[in-house]
Amino acid sequence: MAAVAEGASIAAPAFAPRERPPAFHVLAKPTGAICNLDCAYCFFLAKERLYPGSTFRMADDVLEAYIGQLIAGHTSDHITIAWQGGEPTLMGLDFFRRAMAVAERHRRPGMRFEHTIQTNGTLLTDEWCAFLKEHGFLVGISIDGPAELHDRYRYDKGGKPSFEKVMRGLRLLQRHGVDYNVLTTVNSANAEHPLEVYRFLRDEVGTDWMQFIPVVERINADGRALLQEGDTVSERSVGAEQFGRFLTAIFDEWVRRDVGKIFVQTFEAAARSWLGMSPRMCVFDATCGLGPALEHNGDLYTCDHFVEPKHRLGNIKDTPIIELVASEQMRRFGQDKRDTLPRSCRECPVLFACNGECPKNRFIATPDGEPGLNYLCAGYKHFFTHIDRPLQLIAGLLRRGRPAAEVMEILAHEEAAFAHALAKAGRNDPCPCGSGRKLKHCHGAPPDQPSAPPARGLSVS
Ligand code: SF4
Ligand code: SF4
Repeated sequence: MAAVAEGASIAAPAFAPRERPPAFHVLAKPTGAICNLDCAYCFFLAKERLYPGSTFRMADDVLEAYIGQLIAGHTSDHITIAWQGGEPTLMGLDFFRRAMAVAERHRRPGMRFEHTIQTNGTLLTDEWCAFLKEHGFLVGISIDGPAELHDRYRYDKGGKPSFEKVMRGLRLLQRHGVDYNVLTTVNSANAEHPLEVYRFLRDEVGTDWMQFIPVVERINADGRALLQEGDTVSERSVGAEQFGRFLTAIFDEWVRRDVGKIFVQTFEAAARSWLGMSPRMCVFDATCGLGPALEHNGDLYTCDHFVEPKHRLGNIKDTPIIELVASEQMRRFGQDKRDTLPRSCRECPVLFACNGECPKNRFIATPDGEPGLNYLCAGYKHFFTHIDRPLQLIAGLLRRGRPAAEVMEILAHEEAAFAHALAKAGRNDPCPCGSGRKLKHCHGAPPDQPSAPPARGLSVS
């Protein structure tokens, strides 16, 4: 094992920034954008062009600076050491063994490390999994659904499908008892198959923790997708309404049978918002700016989605991470998430849960022509409106100290009562859903008529 280079800049910052955050979350990319796969929608791959001629391997002095400064920069005792790509496992196990050694060397008494790594899983071996288990890593593994949906955009450099290799890696993680969760990107290929994707992850993969991330790939003026610029999206991107329907369909199944057993990040975040708490998911928080991305050479950027020249904060070999994180540029970046919301958002009934989502997706105009509306707005409005009633029930249960899972019983009871009332009502009677319309024009309408409003925000099918 090679020794870690000494002398890197790991000392505590020379000055105390005025608004030094107690904790922050750096996403380190030790191979930069380099990956062994060639997924069609991957925005990282284009970033290779930002570092022409680079070897795209994090050197030991950067590794030392990253972990040493991360630890020195935290006043909190809980530190997340996070790796992402590209494909971080391309660095090889020895690199990560050195990373563990650096962390241990800088550990302060009482300090707790959380190691995380996001991987496509294709390079995992027994040796890797034993290492991940030994150090208590949380592994995020990317899979887009069953083979025919996953392989639509996720293939290797030779254009070969990657599904089998991902599943092999996933089974290895499971066999070794490694903590993992699943990240599924929602794109134009799988977006129309929400339940197929969800049931596959739940029943065949056997995961109980899922993230659904929308693919919104902006096309720049030169036809490429290097920067967050341009107001058109690639054909691989998910549509706004399509994403809303995707989340809603999964939510409807989850809220009726899986609450308390399956954790879907967006639903967990929403539940927190309905409780009046921070959603703990940067895209739905009012402000952001505590999750910078670290490139292989020590360049620190405001966010993983903004690895581009104007969002470069500096290099950690020149300036300690904490100074860059507490800098005016970073502060402004995070506050702008709230301060640049268009009026449509500021007056939106679901602002408390959506908060205009991620600034990278805010490139369309509002109906009255104001720029800066989120491309996914229509989908989020639909989703957050649709889940209001069940989330109110869940929030009410949690406030009373009851388990959220009791919502399933309440809904089953309500829906049985509704079905009963529906069966008893005459065609000219008021619809039991409370719409004020006659049954024959509402839930009793023939299927070819416009669909009826749901009963108090619930699907009754
Ligand atoms: S820009 Fe988007 S992804 Fe990045 S920290 Fe802000 S909300 Fe999160
Ligand atoms: S749903 Fe649309 S209008 Fe409402 S906060 Fe979200 S992006 Fe803004």
